[in-house]
Amino acid sequence: MTELHSSEHAFALDAADPLPTLRAQFHIPQHADGDQAYFVGNSLGLQPRGVRAQVEDVLDKWSMEAVEGHFRGNSQWMRYHQLMREPLARIVGAQPEEVVAMNSLTANLHLMMVSFYRPTAERPAILIEAGSFPSDRYAVESQIAFHGFDPGTDLIEVAADLPGGLFSMAAIEQAITEHGHRLALVLWPGVQYRTGQAFDVTEITRIAHAQGALCGVDLAHAVGNIPLELHDSDVDFAVWCHYKYLNSGPGAVAGCFVHERHARTDAPRFAGWWGHDAATRFQMGPDFQPTPGAEGWQLSNPPILGLAPLRASLDLFDQVGMPALREKSLRLTGYLESLIQQRLADTLEVLSPADPAERGCQLSLRVRGGRDEGRSLFDHLAANGVLGDWREPDVIRISPAPLYNTHHDVLRFADGVDAWRKTR
Ligand SMILES: *Cc1c(COP(=O)(O)O)cnc(C)c1O
Repeated sequence: MTELHSSEHAFALDAADPLPTLRAQFHIPQHADGDQAYFVGNSLGLQPRGVRAQVEDVLDKWSMEAVEGHFRGNSQWMRYHQLMREPLARIVGAQPEEVVAMNSLTANLHLMMVSFYRPTAERPAILIEAGSFPSDRYAVESQIAFHGFDPGTDLIEVAADLPGGLFSMAAIEQAITEHGHRLALVLWPGVQYRTGQAFDVTEITRIAHAQGALCGVDLAHAVGNIPLELHDSDVDFAVWCHYKYLNSGPGAVAGCFVHERHARTDAPRFAGWWGHDAATRFQMGPDFQPTPGAEGWQLSNPPILGLAPLRASLDLFDQVGMPALREKSLRLTGYLESLIQQRLADTLEVLSPADPAERGCQLSLRVRGGRDEGRSLFDHLAANGVLGDWREPDVIRISPAPLYNTHHDVLRFADGVDAWRKTR
């Protein structure tokens, strides 16, 4: 065994890391022998310890102030959603007016398509990636049908052209250009959930706009994972959830971005009173006047208890900042990759892009022996406190989250695979 594979080396890497881990700020799920090596932050991020205080703060305020909680103090509920604006804007590279925390991801995707998918007989189509997350596909397909068009012809799914389900930029450009005259909207992921491939949002937006289509992105696997510059990318809208890398709890209130140039759009929207101009909202008039910016798409007064965890999570991101977090992420995932290449290559094939610039923290690993071997390995790892997630038929996704995972966690994964191999 070379030094790379020793636990002394992994501990040394952790001790010397330029960004000390914030692991102590999180609740780490326990396994028989101590902490789990938890690699499923791409599905449900761990709970920041600060969440409980934020939730209790809301419960206390409600019990003591009741309706007056809407108007009292810094964390008054009337403006509670605005506490998230600036920290969220920093994470996604936006202006504060361009972002809002509201609803859920899929609901926000529908709301965005109501305004930014405006099909005509000449341009009815939406272009997405083949094998997209089912909810996105259902949303897109149902929007096309809702407008009286035919998803059979007007939902265009671009097939992956590279091994392992990856997309070349050339294939994306070719598809957008080929269908350009019929495209109303391009909807693309920031990071693809199966493969972990990260895309150049700026470039895809440029290509879509050149064809006269609008462009939206789903950042479910990108937010809090890779650096984003949504404003400068010129993308028309973006949606994401906060329960994956944003660590805000199951079903957490989601996020939405609307580019500044649409801040005062007169495109149709599904309106609700919380989107009405805050200055006159409580005049309770009959005519809807939207608040400029992303907040103008809000429907209801927000679930304050649902938003509270996000405050604790955003505090942690602000302590570190996305650039330093990304640097750490590159080190952790790079270490995972080198352990696999040097030691486990006959068992695991890395499907994610080899170029770190083209992926987030996740590596999607195909188990070479096929489905039954894969399940056996996955179960062995889980029984030993190493948790990834399983994708049929033979893929294990491992996502070292730089806020709380360590090099030592990564080594535990590699050791677990090694131990399993010896049982075969
Ligand atoms: C996680 C995820 C979703 C989940 O949608 P919800 O509305 O939050 O349930 C949707 N799309 C993508 C791409 C995802 O990764």
